[in-house]
Formats: sequence, structure tokens, C-alpha cells
Amino acid sequence: MLDVIKLLPDAVANQIAAGEVIQRPASAVKELMENALDAGATQIDLVVKDAGKAMIMVVDNGCGMSETDARLCFERHATSKIRKAEDLFTIRTMGFRGEALASIAAVAQVELKTRRKEDEVGVKIINEGSVVKEQTLVPMAAGTTFTVKNLFFNVPARRNFLKSPAAEMRHVVEEFTRVALMNPEIAFTLTSDGKELYHLYPGNLKQRIMGLFGNAYDEKLLPVNQDTDRVNIHGYIMKAECARKTRGEQYFFVNKRFIKHPYLHHAIENAFLEMIPKDSFPGYFLNIEVDPADIDVNIHPTKTEVNFIDVKLVYAILHAAVRKAIGQHNLSPLIDFEEPSNLNIDFGEVVKSSNPIVQPDVPIDPTYNPFRQKKEFSNSSFGGYTPFEKKADPGDWRLLYGDRTDQATDNGHPVEAPASEPVKQSHYIQLGHSYIVTTVKSGILVIDQHLAHYRILFEKFLKEMDNHSGQSQQELFPQPFTMNVNDASLLHELLPDLQCLGFALEQVNATTFVINGTPADMSGCEPVQLLEKMLDNYKINRSDLQLERKLNIAKTMASQLSIKAMTPLTEVEMENMVDQLFGCTVAEVAPDGKKVYAIVSMDEIMNKLTEK
Ligand code: ADP
Ligand code: MG
Repeated sequence: MLDVIKLLPDAVANQIAAGEVIQRPASAVKELMENALDAGATQIDLVVKDAGKAMIMVVDNGCGMSETDARLCFERHATSKIRKAEDLFTIRTMGFRGEALASIAAVAQVELKTRRKEDEVGVKIINEGSVVKEQTLVPMAAGTTFTVKNLFFNVPARRNFLKSPAAEMRHVVEEFTRVALMNPEIAFTLTSDGKELYHLYPGNLKQRIMGLFGNAYDEKLLPVNQDTDRVNIHGYIMKAECARKTRGEQYFFVNKRFIKHPYLHHAIENAFLEMIPKDSFPGYFLNIEVDPADIDVNIHPTKTEVNFIDVKLVYAILHAAVRKAIGQHNLSPLIDFEEPSNLNIDFGEVVKSSNPIVQPDVPIDPTYNPFRQKKEFSNSSFGGYTPFEKKADPGDWRLLYGDRTDQATDNGHPVEAPASEPVKQSHYIQLGHSYIVTTVKSGILVIDQHLAHYRILFEKFLKEMDNHSGQSQQELFPQPFTMNVNDASLLHELLPDLQCLGFALEQVNATTFVINGTPADMSGCEPVQLLEKMLDNYKINRSDLQLERKLNIAKTMASQLSIKAMTPLTEVEMENMVDQLFGCTVAEVAPDGKKVYAIVSMDEIMNKLTEK
């Protein structure tokens, strides 16, 4: 028998390897641009013809190459970026596998022109299908220009496999965007078939996002900044209200390298969970900085996948960072409450024209982080609130307008306040026993009472679970109840969180519990029913993450206990509700993503009035 094994010629081996690295013009764009970054360029110009199928050119002003290196760079495993295996664990550059140029040259006609600053002239090399066709000296500016023509000219099957020019161009723009985003200090241009599509000036990340996606993004972004020992996270998320129906701008980088990471993506989506409708997607531009030793980027030829050593830690930090960003945004006063005299309703003596216009005194905690907080929450906002609690006689309107005459009382005690203390002045009316209506600077504010209360209770319960602060009310007659084994073991798991909310539950045997106490503000709700509903919900959203469990419990409890539409409210109840709503981390949307309130603007009102 003859020996049958033969070593493949280099050109063939390169072509096979190229299949992994270079799938389409955009792959070559990515590799060439990353090389330019690694070369320390401050200006990178990308020029394509026919979506890169006819030509891709990347011009940089980076360090350039010597004549020998220019020749060597087309060899497989030729790289200046690692020397020994250990280097793999400290790599900070984009490339390191030393196979991109070998791969591109195997399947295209490549012209390289390069010059180091210290050299008098540059060198030009033409390499077609891994064969050097020409090498000459050329005068040129310092830097490197790669021109890739007729990609896949020698692999017709691949060339035929390419999509329409529009589709390939989308991929090219996407790669260009990913590189340009994380390097805002570098100037970039992209020119396609003679038309300049992007001209990006050096600046900061926000300016770069605006340069790529439009100036309107100025208004849409929230900064994310989180530094910890092991992980730093910086960038921007899009405001919840800018969430889109299509998976839009979702850019995730690790040490400035674009990556796809469904698990970490989930951390962001989860942070937005209660704020955007189910069928919308959050937008983000985030870079996670980690010690290169904490990740492995070597697992995929195109390097878009990364393994973290401690991915759960990164998940938790990322989630908290995004929640903090959302929280800080929503804590800033959004709505200017209006002086009631502008209502054009005659309140007679009650409204003093000298009363100052003031912002509502919304308690703001700019350091609020829902998963870190240990300190007691301000009692003004969530101290055992029920919507039916009476702070004052709702019939006494003067109380609401700061006319603190002697007959105004609060639970029998005279209401007194220093004359200088700002007095909130708003007037609430209830529409159809379902909506709270009041005026604000820009028009009329209409609040859905059920959704508002849903949001208030949801945040209250989350906090109580974090702070173990729920008040309990003892049952006069402890109530036993039985469930099936599965539900009972699930309930057993949730007991610590439920206890924080004020439930006093005792497990008697495998399937039986006794209710000794219930949350103090659970007035009129059947506890066993509530617990059963919560377990059902928990099962649907089951997950191994603690924060999800708490979200689940808070959400179910809140939806069960919140007041419904068609419930009459008193003035004081409405005032309490509005106060607490705007003390919430996220006032705009209910935990199910529905809008809590709307503002009918002055313009809209005027348009209505002038309508013919
Ligand atoms: P890698 O980037 O993984 O090292 P490449 O095949 O992409 O492998 O590049 C091989 C080598 O060629 C690089 O390590 C670098 O030394 C050199 N090189 C490539 N592009 C440039 C450039 N634009 N400027 C300077 N040197 C470059
Ligand atoms: Mg490279």
C-alpha cells in the first residue's frame, strides 16, 4: 500500500483557513481596520466599491512596516503581537492570531503600501492568491494602505454566495460602526462608490455616537459609569422611552472589542425589564473593561465571542450599573408642577397670589442602587402607605394650598409650618374614578391611578425585601392552608423574602403552612389567594437569579394589591399617590411596561380649541 497522507500546499491551507476568518467583504474590513488600530493610527479611512466586492481600501497613518515585515505579514501565524503562549493572557490588541492577512491574501488580490516614519521610502507589495507578484519601493506618507480587490476571485462558490450589494454594504457599515464607536479619539471616514457616508471627527464617546447615529441621540442617551475592583463599565444606554420595536443599537464591547454575549445581553434587558414594553428592545453602547487574564477571546476565529472567568460577577455588576443609570435619570424632576392660579379657576381667597411656584418635594437619592441599598429608606415616601390612609380631612381644601389657618388639623394636631417652608400647590381631580388629573407647567397631567399605584407598590416591595423592612400585622386567628408538594417547596424557598414583606408564615409539615401575620398594608386582600397567584407567577418566570425572584414577588404582589380603576379617591389620597409616584425610581411606566401618565400639552389644547 502506498502512503496516502500529503501535506496541503500553503495556498490551499490558507484558503481553507480563510473560510473561517473571511466570510464576506465586511470580515476583511474588520480585520484591516483592527490592524490599523493596533498600528496606533489616528486617522483611518475606509473606501469601498460595490459594497467591498470590487474593492476595499483601508488607509492609516499608523506605525507602518519595514520591508521585511511587509513581506512577512502575509505569512500564516505571522504576528508582531504575541511571542509566547503566555502573551495570550495579557493581550490588549485587536489581533494576535496572525492569520487575517494570510487569509485575505489567499482569496483576493491585495496591494500593500507601507512606510515607517524612520524610512525614506515605502514599500509596495502585490500579493494575489498567496503569491507575491511584485515588490517595489514607493514614495508615500508614513503609514499603511491595504487595497483588497476582487474578493473571492479564486473561490467562485464563495463569491456567488455573497448577498445583494445592499445587504453586504449593511455588514460593512456595521463593522465600520463597531470599530469607530469604541475609538472616538480616532478620526474615521467611510466612502462608498465615491460617496462619503461618514466623516467622524475625534471626540468623546457621546459625540461619536451622535456622529454615527445622528444628533438626535444627544437627547436619548443615559451615561453608565461603574468602576469596581475587577470590572469597569462605561458607556451609554438609551432611555427606556427610546426602546425600539426592532433589535436596534445594541453594542457590547469587552476591552473595546465588539462581542456577542447573550447572557450579558440578558443582564441589560433584565435591568430594563419593568420599564419597556415586552416587544421592544433596549439600546446600549457599553464597554466592559476587564483584566485580559480574566477573559479568553481565543475561542472563535472572528473573535466575537469571549469567555469570562467569572461571568456571574460581570452579570451582576452590569445589571446594577444599568439600573443605576436608569434610576438616576428618572429621579431628576421631570414635571414642573404649576401654581394653581394658572388654572383660571377662581379659588377666591384660598389661593394667595404671593405663594411661590415650587417644585414638588420629591425625595431624591442620586446614589440609589436597588441592589446595594442597605440603609433605611426615607419614611416620607414608602412608610406603610395605603391609598386609603387619611392624612387630613379631604373636605378641607385649604390644607392643600398652604392656607394654614388655625382650624386646619392633622389627626387632631394643628398643622404648623415655618412661613418660609415651600408649600406644594396642586389641585387634583379624579376623572371617571380612574384617572388623576392636575395641571403642570406644560399642560395637563393625566395619571392612571391603577398603574401609578402598581408602580409605587412594586418599588416599595422591592425595597422592603432589600431592607427587611416590611411591617407585619398579626392575624387574630392563625389561618392554616395546604398546597401540593411542589408549590409547598417553592413557597418554602420564598419564605425569607416574604418575611421581609411582612408575611409571618410557619411551615407545619411538607404541605401545610399557617399564616400568623400579613403585610400591614394588605388591607382587604385574601392572603392565601395572593400567595397562590404569586407562586403561579413565580413558576412562569422561574430563574436562578435572586434579583429575578424578588422582581417577580414584587410584581405579583403589587399587581394584586394595587387599587383598580373605577375606585373613587379623595383629594388627599390623590395627593399622596402623586407624591409617591414621583418619588419612584421609574415613574413613567408600570412594572408591566404600560405608560403611567400622559401630559396633554398647551399646544394640543390650543389646537383643539381652534379646530374648525
Ligand atoms: P495579527 O493582527 O493577528 O497580528 P494580521 O494577519 O492581521 O495578524 O497582521 C499580521 C501583522 O502585520 C501584524 O501583527 C502587524 O505586525 C502587521 N500589520 C498588519 N497591518 C498593519 C498596519 N496597518 N500597520 C502596521 N502593521 C500592520
Ligand atoms: Mg490583525
